[in-house]
Amino acid sequence: MLTVEYDPLNGWNSPEIKPYGPLSLDPASTCFHYCPCVFEGMKAYMGPNGEPRLFRPELNLARLLRSAKRATLPDFDPDAVLALLKRLIAVEARWIPDKPCHSLYIRPTIIGTRPSIGVAPTDDYGMLYIILNPSAPFFLPGVGKPLSFLAVEDRVRAWPGGTGAYKMGGNYAPAFESQKEANRRGYDQNLWLIGENRQICEAGLMNFLVVVKREDGDVDVMTPELDGTILPGVTRQSILELADAHTAGRTTLPGLSPTMKIHTHERLLTMPEVRQWNADGTLLEVLACGTASIVVPLARVGFEGEDVVFKKYEDGYGPVGKALWQRLVDIQEGRFEWEGWSVPC
Ligand SMILES: *Cc1c(COP(=O)(O)O)cnc(C)c1O
Repeated sequence: MLTVEYDPLNGWNSPEIKPYGPLSLDPASTCFHYCPCVFEGMKAYMGPNGEPRLFRPELNLARLLRSAKRATLPDFDPDAVLALLKRLIAVEARWIPDKPCHSLYIRPTIIGTRPSIGVAPTDDYGMLYIILNPSAPFFLPGVGKPLSFLAVEDRVRAWPGGTGAYKMGGNYAPAFESQKEANRRGYDQNLWLIGENRQICEAGLMNFLVVVKREDGDVDVMTPELDGTILPGVTRQSILELADAHTAGRTTLPGLSPTMKIHTHERLLTMPEVRQWNADGTLLEVLACGTASIVVPLARVGFEGEDVVFKKYEDGYGPVGKALWQRLVDIQEGRFEWEGWSVPC
């Protein structure tokens, strides 16, 4: 693991790469009481020549900085942290499993460590640490089982003016009870909604997307807009950019016809609307995306006492989901060069 401490006298101290192990912290540390804790989720992938690679790491570090500012944690230089991260991954590259679609999960975390019970900002004492964990693929075509989600109808994950757009520890514990309830009722995760119109926010810890057939024969890909209640996912952004590049003729996504147009929309999306498209037969694919899962298909959503069951495909994915999954994996593992997204360490 890598650790760097921040204190008012020295600012950021010297970083250290050392064996994984417990931290020793004052029990009054602010992170234990008021939750100044922000984190990132990234992965290192093994490239074709045995060189470890990161995927668009600058986007994660920019988001970490936004989260840290929102929690009044110490400021940092994202380029300096990227240099540390590359060094850590280069040192620990042997932990990236040498198997297809496996990776090394990376968890950069910043906590407030001011040893004081006083309820006050903690931009004077903090610690940044990065821990790593080998990880297996979450979902593979033909192998994985599409996920089922239980819509949460009595609680919200995030709200306008809240912190849903930041990867802050405090956003996650309040969701555990609903997660447990979903599991107890046979669902994998929760679909988070907000408002009277049952607007869709996120699918568990993933962003939500639908693929809908258009009258002109093209398809629409729609995902909730970044209105402050949505975590701005790197995978979400990459999917929208890849779909746009396909439609503009700048690339052809695997398995899709170059003439097929995918129109992307970031917009308000409600659960009754999705249910209606499903009933009409225009709803082609329902997907969730994030670093851990890349892209996964949804099988059903429990909503207002009934299951909305989506179209099934042979290997789990519909054509758009499969194309996006394949292209993302090829870029991440360094087999397909695309706009410098894959960064060697
Ligand atoms: C991390 C996260 C995502 C996915 O973001 P990526 O950058 O694609 O990994 C989506 N929703 C929530 C709530 C998250 O915490």
